[in-house]
Amino acid sequence: MPEGTLCNKKPVDTAEGITTLLADQSGKKYYEEMKRLEVDSDLLWKTIQNTCKSRIRTWLEICAHCGMCADSCFLYLANNRDPKQVPAYKIQSTLGEIIRRKGKVDNAFMLHTMEVAWAQCTCCNRCGTYCPHGIDTGIMFGYLRGLCYQQGFVPWEMKIGAGMHRVYNAQMDITSEDYIDTFQWMVEESEEEYPGLKVPVDVEGADIMYTVNAREAKHYPEDLAEAAILFHIAGENWTIPSKGWELTSLAMFAGDWAACKMQVQSVYDAMERLKPKRMVGTECGHAHRATVVEGPYWAGRKDGRPPVESIHYIEWLAEALRTGKLKIDPAKRIKEPCTLQDSCNYVRNHGLREVAREIVSYIV
Ligand code: SF4
Ligand code: SF4
Repeated sequence: MPEGTLCNKKPVDTAEGITTLLADQSGKKYYEEMKRLEVDSDLLWKTIQNTCKSRIRTWLEICAHCGMCADSCFLYLANNRDPKQVPAYKIQSTLGEIIRRKGKVDNAFMLHTMEVAWAQCTCCNRCGTYCPHGIDTGIMFGYLRGLCYQQGFVPWEMKIGAGMHRVYNAQMDITSEDYIDTFQWMVEESEEEYPGLKVPVDVEGADIMYTVNAREAKHYPEDLAEAAILFHIAGENWTIPSKGWELTSLAMFAGDWAACKMQVQSVYDAMERLKPKRMVGTECGHAHRATVVEGPYWAGRKDGRPPVESIHYIEWLAEALRTGKLKIDPAKRIKEPCTLQDSCNYVRNHGLREVAREIVSYIV
């Protein structure tokens, strides 16, 4: 069964492997190799039999093809209402077809499926809230991505992203030492303005363990200082873990289920090690979904919850404003008309609609 040197069914789990993939600009060779990648139909069908549970099978069967989900998908609207962008069509013609054919699909079919699974669905779950049967196409596309990943049909960037988690326990090449150094450096930059400001590392039994997005350390380090400043002003007893600090999961977007588990387990290990009262995660919505909403199931936690209470940043912020730990200068309230976007991950997937509105009520 031909496998490419870059595009194949093996995950990338070495720094050298990531460097080699990155050197293949825009995945030119990777996608050429993908055109010759064979589908392991036996493995595909066996995986479906072992992992495709009754919920997804039922959703695929009960779809009434009513099309009521169409207008809820922004990709359908943005593509001149192309019938091929109707959520039900997208999933029935890919995952539904793979199951109907018992995994006997070819390279061309998988190339098309990859295109639909990543370029025609963001797994935002919006259509699921409109379907009268509660069919959640976003969840099914997340599952389909896992099948594609196993067969090596995964976008080049996603293969690299999942590999980063396997090698660095972070979505990009940042070591724990780099992360701590960057956080401390950014806090030092603000010390003069906020005397006593510090970043407590690996403190056991703190009220809050704060976790971030590796992107902040690499590209937006001022975000780290801003979080430290707010915890400082609010008088919080907080800490950051030196290991298990990355909340995000590109592995979730890639469909690399093993790396999903590995990544979220590193955060749970930090919780077990430091025993904070709560974890507060950075603003990143998909990170919250990965670690707080879906992560417990990847990690096999029977109660479906992380080891300690884990809240999104806006929950902490609303609480700090509500309790007066943080105060907004009334003169600085926003005067212009504003709108609030309900996000897919922490609003639709985790019900924080009112919390977001509460924060707006203090600042507008
Ligand atoms: S709204 Fe639900 S039942 Fe109707 S086509 Fe969409 S997924 Fe199928
Ligand atoms: S989950 Fe979102 S992007 Fe995907 S089909 Fe549904 S509405 Fe469209």
